[in-house]
Amino acid sequence: MSPQALTAPYFGAGSPVDHLDIIQYPHPTLRHRAKPLRRVDDVLRRMIGEMFGLMYNARGIGLAATQVDLPYRMFVVNATGDPHETSEEMVFINPVLSQPKGTAEGEEGCLSLPGLYADVKRPERIVLNAYTLSGEEVNMELDGLMARVVQHETDHLNGVLFIDRLSTTASMAVKDVLTDFEQIYAGKLERGEIPNDAAVAKRLAELERERT
Ligand code: ZN
Repeated sequence: MSPQALTAPYFGAGSPVDHLDIIQYPHPTLRHRAKPLRRVDDVLRRMIGEMFGLMYNARGIGLAATQVDLPYRMFVVNATGDPHETSEEMVFINPVLSQPKGTAEGEEGCLSLPGLYADVKRPERIVLNAYTLSGEEVNMELDGLMARVVQHETDHLNGVLFIDRLSTTASMAVKDVLTDFEQIYAGKLERGEIPNDAAVAKRLAELERERT
């Protein structure tokens, strides 16, 4: 019996996922365009529960599937960031944004770029169309923080990070921090502590075959 067989696999036997972690820039999955989900199963529900836990631990208010190395068009939000406020928990599956209006500038951070904050200009209001975990279709007109969070998370599903949306001056200001992240990642790759790009791509393809 292999040591692995002694512990029950949380996400099912033979699943390419044994646990979820928040990945950091410049992990290649953060640049992957996620695919629409065609089915929601118990394993996916467990993954979503895990995503909320990871988000709260990291003191975030939104987390996209690509940030936990899953290639699915789905993200979770709790704008209060408070794990006790379960009624504020929202799961958006296959989100589509439309009717952007106005412009607003606000500070953003990202759990995949911990410690980095910068001002980002985005449409002030947006319409979100998505499915909930129970398969219900929702249509919401959003503004303020929710509009910002939903746009930030939807960007993630298209492989876009908030650092791609900075002014030239702000980009220059964060350049050194990004280089630090890149060097740390390169070091881990060199030491074989994390899977290489080919292994990451193979795993994503397998996960896409399961649900998209
Ligand atoms: Zn983010």
